[in-house]
Amino acid sequence: MTSPDSPAGTPAVPTDLHTGGLGGHPRGLTTLFLAEMWERFSFYGMRAILMLFMVLAVTEGGLGYDTRKAAGIYGTYTMSGYLLCILGGFIADNFIGARRSVLIGGVIIALGHFTMALNSEITFFIGLALVAAGTGLLKPNISTMVGSLYRPTDERRDAGFSIFYMGINIGAFLSPLVCGYLAQSAGWKATLAGWGLDPRTSWHWGFAAAGVGMTLGLIVYVLQRGRLAHVGNKPAPEADGSRPWGKLGLVLLGSLALITAMWFSDTYKWIVYLLFALQIALIVFFAFRPSQESKRLAAILVFFFAAEIFWAIFEQTGSSISLFADRLTDNRMFGQSFPSSWWQSVNSIWVILLAPLFAWLWIQLGPRQPSSPVKFTLGLLFVALSFVLMVPAAKLTAHGLVSPLWLLVLFFLQTVGEMLLSPVGLSTMTKLAPQRLLGLVMGIWFLAAALGNKLAGVLAGEFKSEDAAGLSTFFWQQALSVGACTLVLFALVPWVKRLMGGVR
Ligand code: GLN
Repeated sequence: MTSPDSPAGTPAVPTDLHTGGLGGHPRGLTTLFLAEMWERFSFYGMRAILMLFMVLAVTEGGLGYDTRKAAGIYGTYTMSGYLLCILGGFIADNFIGARRSVLIGGVIIALGHFTMALNSEITFFIGLALVAAGTGLLKPNISTMVGSLYRPTDERRDAGFSIFYMGINIGAFLSPLVCGYLAQSAGWKATLAGWGLDPRTSWHWGFAAAGVGMTLGLIVYVLQRGRLAHVGNKPAPEADGSRPWGKLGLVLLGSLALITAMWFSDTYKWIVYLLFALQIALIVFFAFRPSQESKRLAAILVFFFAAEIFWAIFEQTGSSISLFADRLTDNRMFGQSFPSSWWQSVNSIWVILLAPLFAWLWIQLGPRQPSSPVKFTLGLLFVALSFVLMVPAAKLTAHGLVSPLWLLVLFFLQTVGEMLLSPVGLSTMTKLAPQRLLGLVMGIWFLAAALGNKLAGVLAGEFKSEDAAGLSTFFWQQALSVGACTLVLFALVPWVKRLMGGVR
């Protein structure tokens, strides 16, 4: 049974599935919420222990890499997952549809985590590559499916995305606790020893737990597939029955070329500068073309640039901040000590607490709320402030471990920034993009996260845990650079608004 008023060209939503899910939303939202919750559980659980595992001495069960090498690998891996979203979106749109892409992506991710459960360097890298590839296939398409659950006029769409963002963060909150406990805690190591196993392999139990999480997500997704049968279908082939294999080859080659170029940027810094110059050139090129569509693309590229800078700081949570938490913070609460990887959950706790507050604020302010370029500027400001905060914290490390309050406030400031930039960015992209380029523009949004993640790795390579003055310079220089970008973006607000041509 389908609802009679489904607009032409959009999939008909069966009326029995139109409500009955979380908060009165379509039933399929609950399924996507749970599947993405478990996918993010696996992603962030593995990420929470990744850097620590790489820098741990071989004799203690780690890989024994130095900080620079580990941060480089970390950046390339996290970049690849987001960068491959363009390819994943293309495959879904032109070949197999979003629903099947999510399933296959999930299977590849789970296999990747289980591969990392094996104790060798080669399986470690194969596992990372599988997780990145699977993420590219799953992440953009699960988000598209959320949108497809609603008719274009359905007022519940934005709220649906907020509920979905909550699912992301519940998964991201729980997994560092579980994976971090298995990888790092004395209790679990003792259990392993009790079973006659080598306690130094505890890290691989952490990786395996990430795989179990993804498997649970897949089970929910398959069991409840009936609720999603009407969305993310396989697209019709072209008029002559063919599929765009040539274009697929180009997207694949382009993605791999960019990943390789960024990998080499660890050694050849000029690649990063070239990329920045290219972005500025593209903004200027599109801004001065006569059509409104080009001007909006220029605005999208300004947002892209700002998002890239934002993620370059924010995504150091898993690298430099992970090391700060591990080596320089007194990880005790109420007299009880906890594994340093638990810090990776704190951003999500803040999201879960702050997201409803922001939703309320935007509703209260209504038309008086700041425009999206202003929200982006504020997002950058907050992330810059979070590193200003770390300047005195870094100085204090000269006298021993510092209070956990520093990191608690750091994550608070960063999450306020995230709330101003991340969900706002998603919706602004959909508003500014020409309809036929919607998928591409979404891919571009994730590309900003990809490049930001890589830059985060490059920047974190300079982290110094034994030199308090050097460490405070590390934070101060980055805060100043982002502060300068904030000022430039602020000055550009009236111009960006004009480029947006009426879109807020
Ligand atoms: N934390 C969010 C997620 O994992 C957003 C990440 C991003 O877009 N860079 O989905």
